[in-house]
Amino acid sequence: MIVMSADATDQQVQHVEERLAHFGLGAVTLHGQERIAIAAIGTNALEHLEQMLTLPGVAEVVPISRPFKLASREVRPTDTIVKIGNVEVGAGRPLVMMAGPCSVETLEQTVTTAKAVAALGANILRGGAYKPSTSPYNFRGLGEPGLEILDEARKASGLPVITEVLTPTDVPIVVAVADCLQVGARNMQNFALLDAVGEQRERPVVLKRGLSATIEEFLLAAEYILARGNPNVILCERGIRTFEKYTRNTFDVSAIPLLKRLTHLPVIGDPSHGTGKWYLVHPVALAAVAAGADGLIIEVHPNPDLALKDGAQSLTFDNFRTLMVALPAIAQAVRGMPMIN
Ligand code: PEP
Ligand code: MN
Repeated sequence: MIVMSADATDQQVQHVEERLAHFGLGAVTLHGQERIAIAAIGTNALEHLEQMLTLPGVAEVVPISRPFKLASREVRPTDTIVKIGNVEVGAGRPLVMMAGPCSVETLEQTVTTAKAVAALGANILRGGAYKPSTSPYNFRGLGEPGLEILDEARKASGLPVITEVLTPTDVPIVVAVADCLQVGARNMQNFALLDAVGEQRERPVVLKRGLSATIEEFLLAAEYILARGNPNVILCERGIRTFEKYTRNTFDVSAIPLLKRLTHLPVIGDPSHGTGKWYLVHPVALAAVAAGADGLIIEVHPNPDLALKDGAQSLTFDNFRTLMVALPAIAQAVRGMPMIN
């Protein structure tokens, strides 16, 4: 990490970037509040550390010890705020609620849900048009017509939309409609997809923790996106696979404060996939917020019994209302506490 002096000029910054390119190193320039820092990326970065110190405008060169660099608090100590449409996520901003069906099924189902969750205080509409499916025989989403439905639902509800992108080739078409891209748990280590969502800068990305991913693997997956130049990444704890069978996944509540200690990126919780049971969503949602989550993503369906996917973990409108009533007290109580880095 090359930290420039407070009065460094644009030319001096450019000079450093050119010198890094000369050494075959990548450069990601980070504009902080007071100074500019340039992350030198490459396995041989440490070799050239001393040489970079001699360049005009360079204040100091700091080696970063974590395997993930751009995601680490060492590189950026202050919380990153990620904007989805006009909604800000992170850095103590009000709790962001993303809600909607697991899958876009019909225009009516999606628009009805969008309006209902908007009326109950949700900030962002979720819904999958492209669905990852463990079995090839299960519902795999409506595809492009599903994106059109999401567009209608955004207009009808006024909510920005988050939806999953499954392949690098689908990125442009999803970017054209979605306000935020979702990389699902099963794709957390799809490195071609991480590169593709990192190369586009238009849309932020919610990256979900892989089914059996360690925290380090999770942060290294985020690093792929950041290293490609997209700084707007939100991490989502959605449960991991353990020996326990009563729940679909084991929601790792400790991941939330741990991630917030290690990274400046916003962290949200997904108690729907994290538990797989609608009656566990409410208490685990409260726990995630108590643990410091910047937001939640919750599955809501007009009639969970009829849902084509994830009905057992979807909240009815009434249950979502009950959750929205319970959350503010927890959010307020925790946000009064300082976050320990
Ligand atoms: C989803 O959000 O509907 C989904 C498939 O989530 P995950 O990737 O966490 O399983
Ligand atoms: Mn789902």
